Amino acid sequence: MPALNDVLAALDALWPPERAEQWDAVGTVCGDPDAEVSRVLFAVDPVQEVADEAVRLGVDLLITHHPLYLRGTTTVAASTFKGRVVHTLIKNDIALHVAHTNADRADPGVSDALAGALGLRITGPLVPDPTDPAGRRGLGRVCELDHPQTLREFAERAAGSLPATAQGIRAAGDPDRVIRTVAVCGGSGDSLFDEVRAAGVDAYLTADLRHHPSSEAREHSDLALVDAAHWATEWPWTEQAAAQLDEISDRHGWGLRTHVSRTVTDPWTSHASAHAPAHAFSV
Ligand SMILES: [Zn+2]
Repeated sequence: MPALNDVLAALDALWPPERAEQWDAVGTVCGDPDAEVSRVLFAVDPVQEVADEAVRLGVDLLITHHPLYLRGTTTVAASTFKGRVVHTLIKNDIALHVAHTNADRADPGVSDALAGALGLRITGPLVPDPTDPAGRRGLGRVCELDHPQTLREFAERAAGSLPATAQGIRAAGDPDRVIRTVAVCGGSGDSLFDEVRAAGVDAYLTADLRHHPSSEAREHSDLALVDAAHWATEWPWTEQAAAQLDEISDRHGWGLRTHVSRTVTDPWTSHASAHAPAHAFSV
């Protein structure tokens, strides 16, 4: 059985921490480097429900995409919700490790998993990492569809390919507009509109699209927008990452058991569809 330190070294090779954004907080949050690891759980969010799931499964290591603490803290008291997570994990000998923007930029990274879930053919990164001579690492991915689809069909495809959430899929643009190429970015992607326009794609699929950037993008060009729940766009990475660790475990004869959390931790829990407006709004 490997020690936590051995597993962490393998994870750092997949997602080198030095490739994370400056503001990010990646790496090991808690855990004894000498403790043995036999079971691992992958999840997007280090929330209490996931910590409880880790306890139920009897894992020794929880790997999440989102950091527990993004900024400094002076307390891990169990009277705070984050401190409660830390207590739950440490009391049950569970380590927590975070791979966030270092996993976004990796090859394969979060957006590769998103494109893979949708069955898209990747042609390259949306924002290439200049330090990668192979030109495969970076933020987001530019993709081609296997066959042209209308925006309506593509939004349905996204709804059917990503895990179900209360939000579902929102789209902006003519539903009959034909989509051949698409940029995807797992997580919040509305800071990348310049790069998406430069890529000359028909559509952009990401999460957390806010009113103003989206409105301006729609005024600027005929780029179709497809907005999924943040959690749903990043969840495919957990399956991809678990498969990567399985492969490493096989290679080293570690015999790790990996699990992928299917707990929906998107904060939005219900959605009321718009009905025909009582007054004369034109949509
Ligand atoms: Zn995210």
